Amino acid sequence: MASPRIDLHAHSTASDGTDTPAGLVTAAAAAGVDVLAITDHDTTAGWSAAAEALPPGMSLVRGAEFSCVSASGRAERDVSIHLLGYLFDPEHEAIVAEQSRLRGERVRRLRKITEKMAADGFPVDVETVFAMVPDGASAGRPHLARALVAAGVVASVDEAFSALLHNGSPYYVPKADTPAVTAIEMVRAAGGVVVFAHPLARRRGRVVEPAVIVELAAAGLGGVEVDHPDHAADDRALLRGLAADLNLVVTGSSDYHGTNKTTPLAAETTAPEAFDELVSRAVGVDVLAG
Ligand code: AMP
Ligand code: FE
Ligand code: FE
Ligand code: ZN
Repeated sequence: MASPRIDLHAHSTASDGTDTPAGLVTAAAAAGVDVLAITDHDTTAGWSAAAEALPPGMSLVRGAEFSCVSASGRAERDVSIHLLGYLFDPEHEAIVAEQSRLRGERVRRLRKITEKMAADGFPVDVETVFAMVPDGASAGRPHLARALVAAGVVASVDEAFSALLHNGSPYYVPKADTPAVTAIEMVRAAGGVVVFAHPLARRRGRVVEPAVIVELAAAGLGGVEVDHPDHAADDRALLRGLAADLNLVVTGSSDYHGTNKTTPLAAETTAPEAFDELVSRAVGVDVLAG
């Protein structure tokens, strides 16, 4: 049998993807994916619908992407980062509370960004933007980006980000993210394993120094996403070296967002041995087999 195709990072309409959780699983099967992780931002709301749609022969890894900050103790050096948590107990009290708080932060800041743009004359309003967010989903800048596309301000979600919504934009409003070490401790306490998502995705803004990855490894980080569409070749080599030194599992994934991005499912994948090692480091919930 050919080596399984393993994609460990994908979004649904439970956050800022455009495929429903069931549609995501179906699309992954059609793309020849054997193992898919659903990793919506700050929510596990898509898990059950994704599980129900799982076709025979495919496996589902239940996960989430946590909005974090690498708290150095010096605010000017803080960098907003994403951590992927896999196979954790979704009812763990601290996770339920923190994800709920972050979804609230997301609503608050998306409203503020929208209001700032409206005050500057852009044809957007809070009601139209939030009409883009399905009930119970994690709101994000891609929802506003879609509203800007619909209003004819920009031609694509990507252009909305590069022109108006990027982290250095005058319209940018931060949200109060979880200190990374706290998130790692919380996910591990819930039986999960944590992977640093796209640590060197430089086009999104400032990225962490390698020393931060060393610190997070000491705090219990389990892996690092090396093969990601936003990573340059030399950064992948640097991360692979760090991972070897720190005993971190190397993953690869598409970070698929449906039509909000152009990257297809399984654009990047994880080696089967790395996947097995990752699973062996988690005890929260099982990998589901369809
Ligand atoms: P937020 O979660 O509100 O901070 O928005 C960040 C999300 O926007 C990321 O998870 C990506 O899905 C998306 N994003 C960031 N940069 C871009 C871009 N250049 N084009 C399209 N989507 C982007
Ligand atoms: Fe996203
Ligand atoms: Fe991310
Ligand atoms: Zn993501």
